[in-house]
Amino acid sequence: MLSSTGVPLKEDLEKVFPNSVRLSQGAVAVIECFQNIPCNPCYTACNRNAIKEFQDINDLPIMDHELCNGCGLCISKCPGLAIMVVDMTYSDHEALLKIPYEFLPLPSEGDIVKGLDRSGEYVCDVRVIKALHTKALDRTPIISIAIPKAYVHTIRNIGMGD
Ligand code: SF4
Ligand code: SF4
Repeated sequence: MLSSTGVPLKEDLEKVFPNSVRLSQGAVAVIECFQNIPCNPCYTACNRNAIKEFQDINDLPIMDHELCNGCGLCISKCPGLAIMVVDMTYSDHEALLKIPYEFLPLPSEGDIVKGLDRSGEYVCDVRVIKALHTKALDRTPIISIAIPKAYVHTIRNIGMGD
């Protein structure tokens, strides 16, 4: 259960993932924010109105995937590391995930790292396409990874150790 484990279930993810048509059209954000906490930087980061204005600071974000262009501005602004961008059009067999990543050292372009699920379990090896780190203290680094399309609902993180 999400409330006791902190790990979203399939039905939780179904509520926040774009539908298959939107996924097939290109990069789009997925917001896995399931707790009512006083927080809204995702809303203020988005200049496309894809994240609706909060009526109450404790609201969960409401997203219009049709307005999102997958720019990724909201990823590094979210203190909960709750946002990733998915691009199913990256290649015939691979999807591109842009994920927030707070550990050091950061991986480098071309590295093969472990693709992990939301429980931290190994899924498969994945390729690092880009590691983006700005000097701004309020910005979380963003790692872009190429993953098999079949795992787009499964992989959510990376691991670099043994
Ligand atoms: S990826 Fe860009 S357009 Fe989409 S919700 Fe985030 S900031 Fe808005
Ligand atoms: S910034 Fe992140 S944690 Fe805060 S409301 Fe938005 S998605 Fe949730």
